Amino acid sequence: MTNPDMVVSMQKCAAIVTDEGGITAHAAIVSREMGIPAVVGTRLATTKLKEGEVITVDGSTGQIYKGKVAETQKKEILPVSAKTKTKIKVIVDLPSFAERASRTGIKQIGLTRIEGIIAESGKHPNYFLEKGNIDDYEEIIFKGINGIAKFFDEMWIRTSDIRSDEFKNLEGAPKKVEVNPMLGLHGIRYGLKNPKILKAELKALKRVVEKSGKKIGVMMPQIISVSELQKVKEFLKEINFSEVKTGIMVETPAAVQLIKDFCNEGMDFISFGTNDLTQYILAVDRGNEKVQDLYNEMHPAVLHQLEFVIRVCKRNNVETSICGQAGSRKEMARFLVERGIDSISVNADVAKEISDYVAEVEKEIGEAVREYQPKEEKDTEDFVKPQNAIPEEETPKINGSEENGEDKESSEDKSLDIF
Ligand code: PEP
Ligand code: MG
Repeated sequence: MTNPDMVVSMQKCAAIVTDEGGITAHAAIVSREMGIPAVVGTRLATTKLKEGEVITVDGSTGQIYKGKVAETQKKEILPVSAKTKTKIKVIVDLPSFAERASRTGIKQIGLTRIEGIIAESGKHPNYFLEKGNIDDYEEIIFKGINGIAKFFDEMWIRTSDIRSDEFKNLEGAPKKVEVNPMLGLHGIRYGLKNPKILKAELKALKRVVEKSGKKIGVMMPQIISVSELQKVKEFLKEINFSEVKTGIMVETPAAVQLIKDFCNEGMDFISFGTNDLTQYILAVDRGNEKVQDLYNEMHPAVLHQLEFVIRVCKRNNVETSICGQAGSRKEMARFLVERGIDSISVNADVAKEISDYVAEVEKEIGEAVREYQPKEEKDTEDFVKPQNAIPEEETPKINGSEENGEDKESSEDKSLDIF
């Protein structure tokens, strides 16, 4: 497997072919940002291909040809021209490719994975912890984000989300890869268990705001409990970082179920991490090529969650967005625009195509869905109803909210029955 901790060597490649992985594997995401053709999950590449053999890789169809059958083509970044009500943002993970993404003309970033900066540095955050020089880590993150900030006005930066299988080659990385890394110690749970690391990341962001005057939103990955959001807000207070928006990634079923509680706690935005949300809802490992045929972000069970969260967030004035790969797919863009999502984050290489398409969809649907529609007024017919939907009386209710003395509206929000 090509891991994102190989970003430095990946930059020297003409193309990438892997045995393992799916299209939301970080190696695939990173190579897309670099504009390098990649075909992942072939299973057989390393046994079939010989050292030194010349091949041609077509990254858009997944075909690999013997010999040189075409010239190398870099995917060009086209400037966005459509005016859309749904904001189109870009995903930028690597400082060295920020300029490339900025050629879209888009000024907002919907996701920066700081793992890109960490990978370019070659060192795992644990390295700095063990050496007792966490300030150096803060400096690396500061420089990386500041480098990206030059090209943009507003950025939502995610605190680190470092899986043990993906970043094992970095200096100082834990030697042992977890048995189940997808469900292991990464994301906000890692940051909260290693507060020096998380605080260093937050301090770095604060310095970027102070230096550049750019707007920053801090985004928390793999959130499952309101207490995690509360703790991060405490940390922000502790370091006097008030000029910042706070938001969570909605990428676990827990975040979906508790969305009303997150809204009540107070946050500025949510962003759908559909890469993970899909794998956790469908119980399909996003990195396992054997089950890629089952990995489907448009599965009714996933769409059901997205619509529910948008509805609750709209009702509570929390901004909604998507930063998973599915946002770069037309069918998902249509689904979300029709539900009134506020913004969509896309890969730079499809920014023009998706923004043109969103403009088309908006023209088709008019203004109606952009405002919150009370449940009574907006009925079921435009929603993708899961087959075998659970009858109303059996839909899961959480914590017996009505018995807890909550009002009817909030108990409706907590039910996953959104029809
Ligand atoms: C996601 O899960 O959709 C996401 C954007 O995060 P990552 O791909 O880094 O897990
Ligand atoms: Mg994720």
